[in-house]
Amino acid sequence: MRFKCTFGCSSYGEKGSCPPQVPSVEECRAFFAEYREAVVFRLVKKVNQPEDRISWSREVNKELVKVEREVFKSGYYKAFMMTMDECRCCATCTGERATCVNKEDSRPGPESLAVDVFNTVRSIGYPIEVLHSYDQEMNRYAILMVE
Ligand code: SF4
Repeated sequence: MRFKCTFGCSSYGEKGSCPPQVPSVEECRAFFAEYREAVVFRLVKKVNQPEDRISWSREVNKELVKVEREVFKSGYYKAFMMTMDECRCCATCTGERATCVNKEDSRPGPESLAVDVFNTVRSIGYPIEVLHSYDQEMNRYAILMVE
């Protein structure tokens, strides 16, 4: 998955929550080994124009981070949300973790942490396909790690 971020994605090096501003694949492996449970959120949407995906992601991710906080407050101190899509908090990203202007709300997407989302969600029976046009229905996924 890291190769897909590094080669072919326009956000590589442009986002404070995307590679290369995220832990190495080895560090991600160690991170996931800390958990026994995860909650997968399936988010389904059809948009009228490609740009609409960004505002939708921004709104959904904001709510997902709130969910993480509530789960954390209920005692699951390692709760960590991997948001749907890359961080969309700001219209323009600083491109660096250290200079991120919204560190409390910014989270990486699962792909950023080298998760094979296709394989993961298919293994639990959720649908996901490579889409070939923007008017197709999207199945997007966020993952909350819980411990
Ligand atoms: S919160 Fe803003 S500055 Fe920080 S990673 Fe997200 S888009 Fe970039």
